[in-house]
Amino acid sequence: MHHKAISQNLKHLNTLAVDVSANNYIAINSYDQLEHLHRLGLLQEKPIILGGGSNILFTKNPTSPVLHIKLKGMQLIKETESSVLLSVSAGEIWHDLVVYCIKQGYYGLENLALIPGTVGGAPIQNIGAYGAELKDYLHNVSVFNMETGQQQTITTDECKLSYRDSCFKHKSHQHLLITAITLKLSKTFKANLQYQSLKEHIAKNNESTSEPQEYTAQQLASAVISIRQSKLPNPLHLPNAGSFFKNTVISSAQFQYLIQSTTSNLIRQGNACEQHQIPHHKTENNNIKIPTAWLIEYCGLKGHSNQTCRMHENQAVVLINHNHATGIDILNFSDQIKQKVKQQTNIDLRLEVNVY
Ligand code: FAD
Ligand code: NAP
Repeated sequence: MHHKAISQNLKHLNTLAVDVSANNYIAINSYDQLEHLHRLGLLQEKPIILGGGSNILFTKNPTSPVLHIKLKGMQLIKETESSVLLSVSAGEIWHDLVVYCIKQGYYGLENLALIPGTVGGAPIQNIGAYGAELKDYLHNVSVFNMETGQQQTITTDECKLSYRDSCFKHKSHQHLLITAITLKLSKTFKANLQYQSLKEHIAKNNESTSEPQEYTAQQLASAVISIRQSKLPNPLHLPNAGSFFKNTVISSAQFQYLIQSTTSNLIRQGNACEQHQIPHHKTENNNIKIPTAWLIEYCGLKGHSNQTCRMHENQAVVLINHNHATGIDILNFSDQIKQKVKQQTNIDLRLEVNVY
């Protein structure tokens, strides 16, 4: 059997709405198809794997095959009195999975409601929001090795999941196509309310419920959904890929330097008192995480725009394609943002989106 190359415009398949076309687009609907493509030698051409396109920036028309993952299905692998192991195919929609699990009474994913994209895309940057991360619920990942044509299972430890990172983002693992993930979920619900803004939102909107222990999983997910809908620009109206940059993690020495330099700068401008505060959180290894949105705003770049792009006026770390930007326009604009932040704070912003 031969393979007939199909060309496909990808504008509606990436949430930044970059207008590119693939000349060899392949929708992957079955595992057998992957084996077949491997036998034909097509997977040796460094294909681009596309899920929901919500964390991807195309800077040119892809010349290698674009594999659009549409593998569907779920399977309960194991059930005990307290937990389940649920295997979910890579092409399922992440948010649909969250909704399904809550209905079934499989708990843990509530804080990750409404994150766009596919299940297969979720381990790539260890998706996280509102105090939860995929890594807390991931049991293992099934992959198709595009070099050998074999199926492999990668344990959660091997995935090296950390803040917006995993082994899959690195060259050594880019021949692995995720076909499914297995999640370990609890049959007992315990609300994860460590994230301050979430706790406040729930308290304000559920006056009748006094104790956090009484919240249901549905209430928690609904709170996350409503905060997200009120704060984040919808890519259908304002094309974006969520946070364009990662949050900034620096050593405490760098943080002290940042406090000093930003304070003296603000004092010079007549804008600050001595107690100038930078929002921050300690990370596991005693580093400091600063919201990149704060750095962008501090540098006067919140809402900053050119003809095609802008940093969002409410969510400063979200880059909007507001006027038919090409991928190169977006990359150039983001480079300017990076340079200005570097000049003013000596901090190097890191991209969260995956650039092709
Ligand atoms: P894609 O964008 O299609 O691909 C992203 C990367 O993963 C690419 O490198 C691609 O090659 C690779 N990839 C995709 N599928 C596979 C696979 N099956 N096998 C191997 N590699 C694969 N992220 C968060 O972490 N938290 C958030 O709260 C969040 N909020 C967002 C809000 C908005 C409005 C938007 C637009 C994005 C947001 N994101 C967030 C980013 C994005 O939703 C996630 O990173 C998501 O997991 C990407 O999945 P995807 O299927 O769209 O991946
Ligand atoms: P926010 O609530 O305004 O908080 C600002 C920042 O402070 C966030 O970046 C968050 O880091 C950090 N933070 C807040 N409370 C924290 C805590 N208790 N411990 C550690 N860090 C804390 O943020 P927001 O922009 O509205 O986003 C809300 C959540 O959705 C965040 O978790 C964010 O990551 C997620 N989100 C992600 C994307 C994306 O594309 N990656 C897009 C939209 C929203 P964290 O980012 O590490 O949580």
